Amino acid sequence: MAYRIPFNQPLAGARAVKYLTEVCDEQRLSGDGRFTQQCHEWLESHLQVRKALMTTSGTSALDMAAILTGLQSGDEVIMPSFTFSSSANAIVLRGAVPVFVDIREDTLNIDERLIEAAITPRTRAIMVVHYAGVACAMDPIMEIAARHGLAVIEDAAQAILSSYRGRPLGSIGQFGALSFHETKNISSGEGGALLINDAAVIERAEIIREKGTNRMAFARGEIQKYTWVDLGSSYLPSELISGFLWSQLEIARDLTDQRVALWNRYHAHFADLEAEGFVRRPHVPDEVISNGHIYYLLLPTQAERDALIANLRYESIYAVFHYVPLHSAPAGLRFARTNGPMTHTDDLSSRLVRLPLWMGLNDNVDVVAEAVKRLVKRIN
Ligand SMILES: *Cc1c(COP(=O)(O)O)cnc(C)c1O
Repeated sequence: MAYRIPFNQPLAGARAVKYLTEVCDEQRLSGDGRFTQQCHEWLESHLQVRKALMTTSGTSALDMAAILTGLQSGDEVIMPSFTFSSSANAIVLRGAVPVFVDIREDTLNIDERLIEAAITPRTRAIMVVHYAGVACAMDPIMEIAARHGLAVIEDAAQAILSSYRGRPLGSIGQFGALSFHETKNISSGEGGALLINDAAVIERAEIIREKGTNRMAFARGEIQKYTWVDLGSSYLPSELISGFLWSQLEIARDLTDQRVALWNRYHAHFADLEAEGFVRRPHVPDEVISNGHIYYLLLPTQAERDALIANLRYESIYAVFHYVPLHSAPAGLRFARTNGPMTHTDDLSSRLVRLPLWMGLNDNVDVVAEAVKRLVKRIN
């Protein structure tokens, strides 16, 4: 069913068609052609990372990060339960165990004060998720990781062009994973990138991404023939994906500014509602610059949240909730464990509503906001 105001509408216009036409004309469709190279260079310079590698999805970037971290059967990775399945799957696919700790009440990010108590002799890494494009408390987290010799993987799927104390998200831990899924700020339908800060693993990352072969080094003329040298899979996207992505990446700053402007407009709309106690608005700490990825509200109860979503749908406005916390999902019960109570994870996920937010939403922000203001008071 088509909504008057959909939850998401991808950006796919003339700029993308221009580059896709170039890819077709040049007849170079497989990966690591000039558009993929341009995307790599853009990511490396704008996100200040040693190496960026385009992948077929954020999920595959996380899978690569888990392999490169050297996770083995029985190892543990500390992470939040309030996230998408991909963050935990990357760990489980290595035979390792996600260990969930609760989130902070203000940002809905992993509570850094709970990490140390979850560390055991089997802990190898901390996976942080920058929810809604708002940074986790990276200084304390990096300090804990250094003290215990743990790797830090940043699930920065939602966080392109966000920063923490001036540092781009995805560039702070050993690895960062970006997503270019249709719902993300910058998108190519499906797509992602692995960001690497540890120079020592770049060569291995290239090999894992190319089916375990040293084809990238071969393509650069560094070796005479390419061959199977390590484990790997096919993680590189075709030039069609990279050409499409490039149409957005080259104007990513501008697209982000537009998105943040829409986010700010929602935020201003709901100030009074928050002051009157009807909703809680998102919190962005002072040391964080957000990319405006998600605009959400927290209702006082799950019943009110559910009623708001249902009533918005009557008005043909598509709002959604997420996530079913991973620790209570069927696969989470099988593959993972918790450390400590999941109080905020359970509570906040049951009261959260995400509002439509996409490029071109424009004045419909006001339509959605007015509907929310009216409905929230009626269902209260
Ligand atoms: C979108 C998302 C992913 C997965 O990215 P895909 O590109 O869809 O594979 C992983 N983690 C988080 C937090 C996400 O929001």
